[in-house]
Amino acid sequence: MPRPIRAVIRTQALASNLSLVRQYAKQSRIWSVVKANAYGHGLQAAWRGLAATDGFALLEVFEGVRLREFGWQGPVLLLEGVFDAADLELARRHGFTIAVHKDEQIDLLAAAAGPGKTDIYLKMNSGMNRLGFAPAAYAAAYARLRALPQVGEIVLMTHFANADAPDRKGIAGQLGMFESTVGALDRSLSRSLSNSGAILQHPEAHYDWVRPGIILYGAAPSGKSKEIAGLGLKPVMSLESRIIAVQQLRAGDTVGYGSRFAAPRAMRIGVVACGYADGYPRHAPDGCSVLVEGVRVPMVGQVSMDMICVDLESVPQAGLDSAVELWGENLPVDDVAEAARTVGYELLCAVTPRVPVSVV
Ligand SMILES: *Cc1c(COP(=O)(O)O)cnc(C)c1O
Repeated sequence: MPRPIRAVIRTQALASNLSLVRQYAKQSRIWSVVKANAYGHGLQAAWRGLAATDGFALLEVFEGVRLREFGWQGPVLLLEGVFDAADLELARRHGFTIAVHKDEQIDLLAAAAGPGKTDIYLKMNSGMNRLGFAPAAYAAAYARLRALPQVGEIVLMTHFANADAPDRKGIAGQLGMFESTVGALDRSLSRSLSNSGAILQHPEAHYDWVRPGIILYGAAPSGKSKEIAGLGLKPVMSLESRIIAVQQLRAGDTVGYGSRFAAPRAMRIGVVACGYADGYPRHAPDGCSVLVEGVRVPMVGQVSMDMICVDLESVPQAGLDSAVELWGENLPVDDVAEAARTVGYELLCAVTPRVPVSVV
């Protein structure tokens, strides 16, 4: 038997999460965000599960080309636009929609030869201060683009820093800035503002196209599983493994590197084939939840490259070869992430290539 770890990707869960997003944003079309290899789930699996989407959004032009090779003929949005003239050439050839967030990208468009019009997402920096034109420069960027024969439709876009904030006020400042700026432009232009957090919490910001990422994969925008408990979102990935060794400890025996955990009494521990080289967070503390035979048990000792250890006291029936879920259908990835002081996004993206993937 090979090393027992694997990631199971459920395409039906993707499809189900997509239809739930449609319930939330009935008036909007949906860009399914599949950047970072579909948040670690694999682009091809995402394409299968999300076939009913209106478009796919990602970063690298080559990933967009892969979607075309799978057979996707619909819209593809490059969320950061193009990085150079060769990128633009490919994007134009494949009919991709491109974000434009700085003047240099307009220069590239102006220099592009050949027929065909490229649709644009004109990005405003409404307060996140990462990408986009400042509000004061936005109308000029719009006018410059509108005058180019290379440009087709222009959609107005911004991105929220605090859409998942629990007080529901997280977007007010940015939304106000966006609306007052675009108010001066043509009223009929489409708009795209909402990531997952805003889809769940801010219907006032849904507009024409929404851009869900993390909720399609069944995890929480805030990184706290209780945010989405009861909404009906389904975890798409389960990271599964097995117990490959059992140790009987005496009181005072220690576990793993640095002897971080010392047994307070005699105890039985299981050694699980999963470590940080699989993408399990090395910062997970003692007590972090692991599911063994369906029961939540505490991890004990430092996460090592290929293994973690768990306390088997509450699962006497568990032993060698027992089934382990590191996160997934029965243990929210955000719970593990929270223990390790990160968010589910990072853990999902960080599953490493050595983990075999089963797409079901
Ligand atoms: C990643 C990304 C999204 C999706 O964000 P989630 O929080 O995963 O929903 C939406 N829009 C842009 C511009 C992004 O970069």
